[in-house]
This record gives sequence, C-alpha cells and structure tokens, in this order.
Amino acid sequence: MSHQTDILIVGAGPAGLLAAIMATQLGLSFEIIEARDGLHPEPSAHVLKTHSMEVYRRIGVADAIFEESTPEELQRCIVWCESLTGLCYGRLDLSGKKGLSPRFTRISPVYSANVPQNILEPLLKARLVDLRGSDPVRFGHRLVDFTQDDAGVSARVQCGETVHELRARYIIGADGAGSSVRRSAGIAMDGPPALAHFLAIHIRSDAMPILARHPGVVFFVRAPALSGFFIVHQPVGSQVFMLRIDPEADPVEAFDEARCREIVDRVIGCAHDYSITSVGNWVMSAQIARHYRAGRALLVGDAGHRFPPTGGLGLNTGVEDVENLMWKLNAVIRGKAGTDLLDSYEQECRPIAVRNTEQSVRNNDRMQIIETALGGDRGDAVLAETIGQLRADEAHPQFATLHAAVENQIDHFAFLELEMAARLPDGAFVPPCRAVPTPVPPLEGYQPGFEPGNHVPHFWLAPGRAALDALRSDAFTLFVPVGTEALWRAAADAVDGDYLDLDIIALDGTMRSDQASVADYWGADPFALLVRPDGRIGWIEPPGLADRAAALEDALARIGCRATGPAIQERVA
Ligand SMILES: Cc1cc2nc3c(=O)[nH]c(=O)nc-3n(C[C@H](O)[C@H](O)[C@H](O)COP(=O)(O)OP(=O)(O)OC[C@H]3O[C@@H](n4cnc5c(N)ncnc54)[C@H](O)[C@@H]3O)c2cc1C
Repeated sequence: MSHQTDILIVGAGPAGLLAAIMATQLGLSFEIIEARDGLHPEPSAHVLKTHSMEVYRRIGVADAIFEESTPEELQRCIVWCESLTGLCYGRLDLSGKKGLSPRFTRISPVYSANVPQNILEPLLKARLVDLRGSDPVRFGHRLVDFTQDDAGVSARVQCGETVHELRARYIIGADGAGSSVRRSAGIAMDGPPALAHFLAIHIRSDAMPILARHPGVVFFVRAPALSGFFIVHQPVGSQVFMLRIDPEADPVEAFDEARCREIVDRVIGCAHDYSITSVGNWVMSAQIARHYRAGRALLVGDAGHRFPPTGGLGLNTGVEDVENLMWKLNAVIRGKAGTDLLDSYEQECRPIAVRNTEQSVRNNDRMQIIETALGGDRGDAVLAETIGQLRADEAHPQFATLHAAVENQIDHFAFLELEMAARLPDGAFVPPCRAVPTPVPPLEGYQPGFEPGNHVPHFWLAPGRAALDALRSDAFTLFVPVGTEALWRAAADAVDGDYLDLDIIALDGTMRSDQASVADYWGADPFALLVRPDGRIGWIEPPGLADRAAALEDALARIGCRATGPAIQERVA
C-alpha cells in the first residue's frame, strides 16, 4: 500500500499524541502509528510542569488533566525514609513553590499537575479523537525503517505479518528511547547509556491511610539492602516502587511475585492491602541525540533525549519539543517559511535537552549526600548502625546533617527556570534592538520579560483570558500598544511576502498578572512585539521606527528563514 500524507508520526506516547493533536489543529494531514496494541498500561511520568500545562491549556485538555491531578496537599511533600511508615530522615515541603498551587497564579494562568502517564495518555487521545472526529491511531503498526528523497520519506510499516509502504512529506520520530526513526536516520546518541538499573513494581492500593500519616508524592526509601523510590501516582489507585538493582548480580528474572511482595512490604513498613499489577525493568541513562533533524526526519521526546527521572523532565521536555516543532513544520509544509526553519528546531531545543540532562544528572548525583549522611556509602552495616542510632534518639545530631542534606535537594523539585520554558539564547528570532525592562527580579533562574527568545510572560487580557489564550497555533500574533492597531494593520497589509497569518491584538499598559503589568514590561516607551505561534517572542519594535511595513516584513522573513540578509542565515545554519 502506498499512501501520501504530510506527516508520519511514529509512536503514540505523550510526544506522539501531542504532535497528532497539534497537526489536527493545524489542518495538516498525518498518519500516527503505534507498535503496541494500546496506550501505556502503567505510569512512569507523573509530574507535569507549569509550562506543559500551558501547552495542554492551549490544546484544550488542561481542565481534564487538573480533574485527575493529585490534590495539592498530597503533592507537596517529598520524603526520605526507611519505609513509608517508618523512620523519616527528612522531608521537603514544596508548599508555595514551583507553581504547585492553584493559588500560585503569578507566573502563569495554570500550575503544575501530578497525573500518571497512563491517565494522561487517554486524555490526550480522547482530545485527539474529539478534534479529529475519528480515532487516527493505528495500533499494532510498527515502523521497520524508512528512506528519504527530495520529495518525502518512504516508510516500511509492519502490521502483523504484512509490511506496507507509507509515503509522507516528513516523518516525526516520537518512538521513544529505542527510536527506529533515529536508527534509520543514522543519528547517534551522545552520553552514557546506563547510569543505573531499576525494577519497577507497580501496585494498586488505597494509600490514603499511609498518606494521612506521611503526606507525600515521592518517597526515597533507603534501608539495608533496599534502595529506591516510591511514587504515589494516585493516592487511591496506582503506585510504584522503583528498586535499584544490579542485573548482573541479581537478574530481573529472579524477582518473582513472592520476592516483589516482600520488597513492597518492607517499603510500606506496615500491614497494607495491595495487589501487584506488573513488574518491569528500565535503565536510567543520560543521552541526547547528536541531531534532532536529518533531512525530513525529526526527533521529539525520548527519541531525542533520555534523562534520569530525577527532576521529572523527560515527558515535559518532549512537550517543549513538539510545541517548538509543529508550527515550524506547518509553516514549511504550507510554503510559508524556508526549510531552514526546521534547523532552528534543533538549534533551539537541543540545548534545552542538554541543560535538562545536566540538571537531572546533577539532581541524581546530589542525592549522594543523603546516602553519605546515612552511611550507606560505607556499606549496609554502617547504614544499619546509623538507622539504629537515629531510632534510639529523636534528637540525634545526625538528623541535623540529614535535614541539611535534604534541604539541599530543593532545586531538584522547585526550580522555576525548568518549570517554565526558559529563554532561548539563539534561534529563529530577531535579537532585540532596544533595552528590555525586567521589572520582575529573576527567581530560580526564571526571568520573565518581553525579550525575544522568551515565551511571552503571563498577563491577563481580560478576566479568564490570558495572553497565551489569544495565540493561534497557525499564525503570528502582533501585540501592539493600544491606539496603534490601525497603523500596524496597514503595515501588515503592506507586507509583500507569503508568511503565516498575522493577528493583531492591542495591549493596554494596565493589563497585568499578579506580579507585573504590561506597562512594567514596556518601560517608559510602549512597543509592539511579534509572538511566534509557539508563544515565543520573535521580534520587538525598535525605538523610533519609521517604516513599520519594512520592519515587519524583515522580521517575518528572518524568523521564517526567508531572509536574504545574512544574520538569520548564519543563525540557523
Ligand atoms: C520512573 C520514571 C518516572 C518518570 N517521571 C517523569 C516525570 O515525572 N515527568 C516527566 O516529564 N517525565 C518522567 N519520566 C520520563 C517519561 O516517562 C518519558 O520521558 C516519556 O514517556 C517520553 O514520552 P515519548 O512520547 O517521547 O516516548 P514514549 O513514552 O516512550 O512513547 C514512545 C512510543 O513509541 C512506540 N514505538 C516505539 N518504537 C516504535 C516503532 N518502531 N513503530 C511504532 N511505534 C513505536 C512505543 O511503543 C511507545 O508507545 C519518567 C520516566 C520513568 C522511567
């Protein structure tokens, strides 16, 4: 069978489903294939950071996600302990941090959520079916490989015993860590493939009696011959214990149900009713694809990067990838931008993955100070002795060392720069040619402002309507000082080239978020800002601008890689 479509999306995990939703909203034709027979049955990711929730708000699924999210009071604590009900080494209370609370609306119209991946995926799929009017996901279809030529890609797709060919203009590899798209495109991974091995024991239980005593969402459990973390995906529903293992000394097959039960009993530390739903294993690695693009093949999500889960950045980074890529693909496929715009995808997103990998590895390494404080690095006997001493004396001085070590983990869990989409140093935007005020002091590396490369900071256009709600995925938005709309409309109409549509929205200096007004972001001299479909600021009006049409045309051309001028050509090369 030969079939022509705009995009072949390989993989229906969180990245592939999001790409399919955005392709639908953009009116692009696509096929989405998934090797498995259904969506992921068990959770792995659970933390959806604030920026991901902004993206989910834009595709119309945020409310459904919040309905499934763990209540705030249970999300707020990270606990280090001997067992869930045993000796507690320390706890981090995240109240008021990282946009966790519905009341914390200063930086965004949304906040982060805790929803297990196996609940999130059906919500994304339902939204896809809703938008599309039918279910496009072809389960049981596996990409074997693909080749490409000047006009498109030819993919071999296997379904049962049959292999057929599918022809598409572009192929998106959303097919996870072992990506066939990546392999077929000949893209290498950089970084260590195996930092640690884990056994995942998934259980179902009503954890409320335990959480009533020790509220928490993640419990790092350490005791002699026991090291791992317990994730409360749902207080009543699914939870998982990730046991650190050495598969050479103790192979995965050796963990039968009885042994897994023994482990979970120890982790919980008291009589508790639960059933084991599945046991699997996974490898913690820190790898990034050397390239995100090879001609007509583009990698998103885990196909392009694999981090330790310390930081909860894997799925979230995939959301940023897809958000960044889809409007560019749309512009290129519709002939509204040069194909070089696709190079800016790697240029913008790969450094984000590098930063997130470094942060995840740093988080993982920093955990070692707790291990050292417990004496676990000197063997089980020392660990057992420390635990014995701590149990015997509530005021033991080692608690102070442990509490300091736990406090030291804060930016693992609360770091606004990672919570939000951070500013891009380089990419498909025009560097500012005016000083941009920064009325809000930087907090945990996050600096909101009207600087190109930034996501447009949060402010309300009207009650319940945030600036990001006004953005269209298939158009640029030009925010202009109120009173100048007609001038800018005339300028936009005078633009010659064929670019994506341009919406014009008037801003009034009094529009604001809880932390700053538009006037604060403008400073003394209000200016227009051109926002890309993904919400990043692409250009701001220079002071004393005489020819609006020429300036706008130049900005659109440079962002869309249609420039004849050298600047953007160099940046996206
Ligand atoms: C313990 C743990 C906790 C985590 N916690 C978090 C967290 O809190 N927050 C976070 O952001 N991330 C977290 N992650 C990471 C997160 O789970 C992944 O980053 C995320 O699942 C990646 O999504 P994806 O869509 O890119 O890939 P995947 O979820 O791997 O989906 C890829 C899909 O492609 C399919 N596929 C593969 N090959 C083919 C083929 N040849 N043809 C067709 N289909 C194919 C697969 O079957 C799969 O369904 C965690 C991971 C683990 C292990």
